[in-house]
Parts: sequence; C-alpha cells; structure tokens
Amino acid sequence: MNSFFESNINYLKGVGPKKAEILKKELGIVVFDDLLNYFPFRYVDKSKIYKVSDVVSDTTYFQLVGHVSNLVKVGDKRTRYITATFTDDSGSIGLVWFRGLQWVANRFNTSQKYIIFGKPSVFKNRFNFVHPEIEDYNDESFRVSGQRLEGIYSSTEKLKNTGFGTRGISKLIKELLNQGLNRIDETLPEYLISKFNLLAREKALINIHFPVNSEIISRARERLKFEELLLVQLQLLQQKNSLSRKIKGHVFETVGTTFNDFYNNKLPFDLTGAQKRVIKEIRADMRNGYQMNRLLQGDVGSGKTLVALMCMLLSMDNDCQSCIMAPTEILANQHYNSIKNMLRNMNIQVELLTGSTKKKKRTSIHQSLSDGTLHLLIGTHAVIEDTVKFNNLGFVVIDEQHRFGVAQRAKLWSKNKLLPHVLVMTATPIPRTLAMTVYGNLDISIIDELPPGRKPVKTIHFFEKSRLRVLGFMREQIKQGRQIYIVYPLISESEKMDLKNLMDGYENMLHDFPMPEYQVSVLHGRMKTEDKEFEMQRFVEGKTDIMVSTTVIEVGVDVSNASVMIIENAERFGLSQLHQLRGRVGRGADQSYCILMSGNKVSNEGRKRLEIMVETTDGFKIAEADLNLRGPGDLQGTQQSGVLNFKIANLVHDTELISQTRNLADKILSHDPKLVSSENILLNRQIEQIKKGKQNWGRIS
Ligand code: ADP
Ligand code: MG
Repeated sequence: MNSFFESNINYLKGVGPKKAEILKKELGIVVFDDLLNYFPFRYVDKSKIYKVSDVVSDTTYFQLVGHVSNLVKVGDKRTRYITATFTDDSGSIGLVWFRGLQWVANRFNTSQKYIIFGKPSVFKNRFNFVHPEIEDYNDESFRVSGQRLEGIYSSTEKLKNTGFGTRGISKLIKELLNQGLNRIDETLPEYLISKFNLLAREKALINIHFPVNSEIISRARERLKFEELLLVQLQLLQQKNSLSRKIKGHVFETVGTTFNDFYNNKLPFDLTGAQKRVIKEIRADMRNGYQMNRLLQGDVGSGKTLVALMCMLLSMDNDCQSCIMAPTEILANQHYNSIKNMLRNMNIQVELLTGSTKKKKRTSIHQSLSDGTLHLLIGTHAVIEDTVKFNNLGFVVIDEQHRFGVAQRAKLWSKNKLLPHVLVMTATPIPRTLAMTVYGNLDISIIDELPPGRKPVKTIHFFEKSRLRVLGFMREQIKQGRQIYIVYPLISESEKMDLKNLMDGYENMLHDFPMPEYQVSVLHGRMKTEDKEFEMQRFVEGKTDIMVSTTVIEVGVDVSNASVMIIENAERFGLSQLHQLRGRVGRGADQSYCILMSGNKVSNEGRKRLEIMVETTDGFKIAEADLNLRGPGDLQGTQQSGVLNFKIANLVHDTELISQTRNLADKILSHDPKLVSSENILLNRQIEQIKKGKQNWGRIS
C-alpha cells in the first residue's frame, strides 16, 4: 500500500484528534486506507428532490428543498431541544435537534432556501426529521462535477453529532480522494484483472464512492468483492494447507477394548445415523498420519458430546490421553458429571480441573497427568495453564469455540511434541456453504439429525398484555413438578446494566404477581463463579423452581426437568441467540415450551424473528433466516473468526463469487503455495498487510 494511505486519519483535513477518536471507536477507521474502504451501503439519486407530501415512510431517505421557520427552544436547562418547521409548496414537516443547539439557533435565516436530507422518524404519529443534514440551497447545489448518484454511508448517533452523517463522511472521502489521487496502487496481479475483466482498483474505488453512472457501480462492486473474497480464500486455504498437510499427527490405528466395551455394553441407546457417520469421518481423520483439525457442528441436543466421548475412548485405546475444554465452569462441571456417569463401572480415570479446583487436588491431577495414569481431563481455561503437562495428549475437544481465541488453542497444542488431534464442537448452526468459508481452515462434520423420540419444543409468542395467562401457565407447570427458566436480555454492554435490567424486570413482575410459594435461583454475569455455581447447582438439583437469569445460561447447560423457557423482551434477541436459549429445554421426555414475551409494539424485523422462532425448531433454517435478515457479520459466534467482517462481499448473495474465488485460490496455491512468484507478489503483499492490520488494531477480536 502506498504509505500515504497508512497515515493516521487525524491528519486528514477536517478530522483532528478528537474526531479521529470517534471515527476509530464508531467505525474502526484508524488510517486513511480504512476510510477509503468504508463503502456506501446504497445510493440515492441526488438530483431527485422530494416534496414534503412525499414523506410517507420512515424506511427511506428523502431530500427536500424549502424554508426553515418557527425555530423554538423547548424545555428547561437540562432537557432543552429545538424544533422548527420545514416548508415547501406541498406542506410542512417538523425538524428537531437535541444537540448542537447553539449552532442550530444561529444557523438559519428565513429568506434562504435549504436542502435537508435524512430518514424521517415517527413521533406522536407524525413524521419529522431528527438531526437532518442541512446545506444551503443554491443554483450550484446539483451541479457538483456532474455527479447525480450519491453514496449513503451508515453512520451512528455519535458520528452524526460530530458532523459525520452520511454527507459528512462523503465529504471526508472526497477530500481523501483529492489528496490521494494517483496514489492508489493496484492490488491484484495484471493477469487476474485481464482474465476476469475487472476494473482497475483506482477506478473501482473512485466509483464506489462517487459513481459517474449506475452501471459502473456494479462493476466497481464486483471488482472490490472479487478482491476481498479472493484474499480471504487464499488466507484460509493457506492456513488449512499448513495445518492439515504438513503436521504429523498421532496415528490411531486400533479400535480397542475400551471403545468396544462402551459401544457394545454401556451405551444405553443406539447411535443416530448422523452420529455413526461423523464418528467414521473422525476416525478416518485420526489415523491418516496427519493432525486432525475438525469442526463438529450439530444443533443443541444432537449428541455431539457423546461423539466426542467415543473419540476419547479411541484415543485411550491408542495409549493417548484426552482433554475437553469448556468455556465456563458450569459447562465443564456438566460435562464432567455426565461423562463420569456414562463411564461408570469402566476402568477409566477422569478428572475435573477448573479455576476453583483446590490446591491439593490440583497437584494430584498434575501428577497423574504427567505420569500418564489420568486418561481424561475435563476443564476450563485451567487446562491450558503452563503448569499442566500431559504425558501423551492425543485428542483435544474444544466446546463452543467462539469463547476461545485461536492464540489459546495454539498454546494448548504446543504442550506436546506431536500435536494432538483437535475437535471443535459448536452448536452455532451455520449453512454449509457459509461454514466452509468461515471455518475454511477446518474440516467439517455435521450431525444433522436429532436422537429419536424428542418432542419438538412448542414455541409461542405472547405480547405483554397477555402476561396473566403466562403466569397461570407457569403455575400449572410448576405444580406438575417442572422447572422454569426466565431469561432477561442484555440490553446494555455493561454488566451493571445487565443486572439492573434483570432485577428491575423480575421485581416488576413479582410486584404485580407475587409468587411467594416458589423457590428462585438468580444468575447473572456479575456474580462470582462460586455463587453462579451454587445457584445453578440448586436449580440442577431441583431445589429451586425458577431460574431467573441473563443470557449467561445460554451455552450448554442441561437440566432435563426444566420444561419452560420464558424469554423476556424476546424481540431484543437475535435469532441464533433465541435458538440457543430455546435449546435449554426439550431435553427430557416431557413436552417443553418456549414462551417469547415481547412488548405490545414490536418492530417489523423483531416481529419476523419471532415468527421464524414460532415456525421452526430447525437450527439450520433459523441460521439461514438470520443470515438473510441481518447479514453474516452479525451471526453470533462467528464474529471472532474475522473472515465474516466483509466490507463489501455478502456471504448470502455472493455464493457464486465465493465458489469462483475459492476455486481460483485453490488453483493459484497449487502452483505457488507461498505466493512467491513475481506474478503473485501483489497478492502476497495484500495478505501480509491484512495480517498486520489485524495485529495492529485488533479490529477482528
Ligand atoms: P449436544 O452436546 O449436541 O448438545 P449431547 O451429547 O449433550 O448433545 O446429548 C444430549 C442428550 O441426548 C444427552 O442426554 C445424551 O445422552 C442424549 N443422546 C445423545 N445421543 C443419543 C442417541 N443416539 N439416542 C438417544 N439419546 C441420545
Ligand atoms: Mg452439549
């Protein structure tokens, strides 16, 4: 990259240190290049001027020309705001400002015409514009370099207050392009540009921001998507190649007595077809001489843990130790208890190691690990502490990978001379094509079948006004001996708020509907681990009837007597999170219920999410719907993989380009695995640049 574009954004005219800080915080824009690559998400025809009477929807942008009058300061010192009236020949509409009042107060004169631009809001059943973008209107207004299409950039409240609404951002980029023209280097090799008939990078970047016509927008987008996807695929394939082809692994040749004894004599049910297939895939992978890196994907309750256990028995049959790492103590505990239970009456040594393991126990675990008498270690992060040394670790299971960073995984690997096979388990259901890209560096096994006899969870959506019915239903279920979860959303990022939401919500409910006869556990993110443990345990043992919780219970917890999951403010949750939460019930033989409580008014998108939840329990369908609604960047559990943070490509809509670039990347790497030939040197440089960027700014983490 031309070093000009590596300049810190605060050196750009119109930015300065304070604004730079905001750009960084809100959009991750740190250097010029980040701004250059901040693309509009759509375009409006700038020559199009609407009338006030056209403003009938709050979902699109409008550009109006007219006069501003009736400027009024409202409220007292603390809550002051300004309203005004905007008028053209078709009518009037309100304008509102809550900030920058000083500036607003002196901004307008009644004889001048103004252009306002923005998305209307609805207030008391009428449309108005809150903090619209405003320019003086004059004859020049629409003759700026003959350009009619204007890019719309997504912005935030904070940015808007700093003058970086979509037009503010557009102006910055114009400044950047003016200064940086002729410094935009090509990043793709010539042979690719001509073979795929792509726009040059400079041309693409200029036109993505300031298109001369609508045809060129699609060519610019195509070029930028192509580049983005190709670079991702190259990186992923390189990683995959270096992981799977080069690293020697344990060869698990034998299916021995441990595995067979368990399978033939101890397993209380038949494996599902999917479980059998997946175990075969894993087995084949563990005896081919190379280290396995495999993702095991399967909906909640599909029997992943059992598969992992059977693979651990294989490891044992081949004289190796195994280890499971879970993201929380609660989960580690559960794995420990259920595995202990399944392996009872077998001569297998299993231990649990977590942050709260006592010193004496810890020492004895360390001892038995290093002398090889311990076969199976289950735990949290504690299992990768430096003091933990295995005698011969052959197989590692990582549960719910998104809670663990890659660096931690690497640390675990480095504990052995021969790296152990790694199985990553996740219940985050992602469509296969997506999974191949997201986890392009892992092989994938999918359990796409639930054990027989499961009754699908019945899901019902209730509005707040039906609360009474829901409470009646809760009572009835508790009377039948069932247990209930009530989950409150994490509305704010801060845990303090999290707790407040939960306490407020729950206390409000109790205030209106006291339930003194029930025992309640409370669980939230701010509690100490031991306290969480204690509350959870009371619920697991059936000592409490209701578990009131924030989303901390989301992952993996298994209480088969709990048959009702009530999700408060369900409209605030994402689909995959709702699905995870619902997965906490329906684990026993009883009919289970998921009740989605929402406010009486729900946005369109929120309503769609709730409808999907009511319609289906199929995690893959839900994941697909989620992708369509939100775009993959937000898919829970996938952010960390980084590759999903696409600037322009779209994993749902660009499937063809995804497979095209994947094949291309494969071909390029088969001739030139390290990208060192002169024709690929540009690609290599780009990839290095991306890696450097990730380290420097941690944008991906
Ligand atoms: P996951 O880890 O995928 O959420 P688990 O392995 O915890 O699922 O399995 C969920 C429950 O289903 C456990 O109680 C387990 O014993 C049971 N189970 C697993 N496989 C089968 C099967 N093939 N038939 C019946 N029950 C099964
Ligand atoms: Mg599980």
